[in-house]
Amino acid sequence: MRPFDYRCATSPTEALSIAGAQPGRYLGGGTNLVDLMRQNIDAPAALIDVSRLPGIIEDTPTGGLSIGASVRNSVAAAHPSVRSRFPMLSRALLAGASAQIRNMATIGGNILQRTRCPYFFDATGSRCNKREPGSGCDAIGGFNRYHAIFGASEHCIATHPSDMCVALAALNATVQVAGPGGERDVPLLDLHRLPGDRPDIETILQPGELITAIALSPSAAAANSTYRKVRDRSSYAFALISVAAGLEVAAGRIVDVTIALGGVAAKPWRALRAEQNLRGAAPTKERFLAAADAELAAAKTLDGNAFKVEFARRTVAAVLCELAGVEP
Ligand code: SF4
Repeated sequence: MRPFDYRCATSPTEALSIAGAQPGRYLGGGTNLVDLMRQNIDAPAALIDVSRLPGIIEDTPTGGLSIGASVRNSVAAAHPSVRSRFPMLSRALLAGASAQIRNMATIGGNILQRTRCPYFFDATGSRCNKREPGSGCDAIGGFNRYHAIFGASEHCIATHPSDMCVALAALNATVQVAGPGGERDVPLLDLHRLPGDRPDIETILQPGELITAIALSPSAAAANSTYRKVRDRSSYAFALISVAAGLEVAAGRIVDVTIALGGVAAKPWRALRAEQNLRGAAPTKERFLAAADAELAAAKTLDGNAFKVEFARRTVAAVLCELAGVEP
């Protein structure tokens, strides 16, 4: 690890001011960034600690919920409003990492955590366009069991590791951002980039911008929702695939449905084709499988990850059956 300056901010304004004077990285719980610094994958000249900014969870005037960026993952997962109005979010948070890490990790840091592609973490022995642009990608043609089946490029096939972001994508969450140019709201679905020819650029955030909160809008589908993660072991493992879904059924027909997939792309993958296939339909297992097939028809697989298509197909159908109360 190389030497760096450390400053602790007490307000977003102070954090922006510090960053304006000395560009660096904002530090949340440090559960990802510090690992990257220890392994010389990231070497910021300065850390601006934003983990102690006031972090609150509160109702918004429009009936939604706001969750501060410095709220710890475990606190958000246990909050009564999150559990009752957005259960997929609570379950996604609890599916991530370990209890100790959830107690440290912040909402803002979770959104910005970086891929766990093993070649990205192997700074001394592997080629990685994300770590070193133009160097190549050893995952293509290598060990790619965990890698993307949607939205990949010839330059990078990494996946985004967050469980929480999959639920936020399904919930149409808005990310509130403050920066040198003022404040702005960014749909979570637009925040992360697909790799294209610049996999090192992972979000649309501008230099110095700080995530301050996320905002959620309530709905019947959000209240009847869940998150399911398929992984190699039952805890402390990243998703092979995951599904966040919400469903509203009235008079035997699907009125509203929202589905996002994790472990399949460099960003949470909203399953819009599957959703379109389901609106107005009767909630049956066969229809759920057909909707999953409609989404997965566009998947592009590699030697190591072709199994993800069938995993995703069955998991989407199982989750929707659970929400609809029909036999899986
Ligand atoms: Fe690097 Fe992306 Fe290739 Fe992994 S998949 S080695 S992160 S370029």
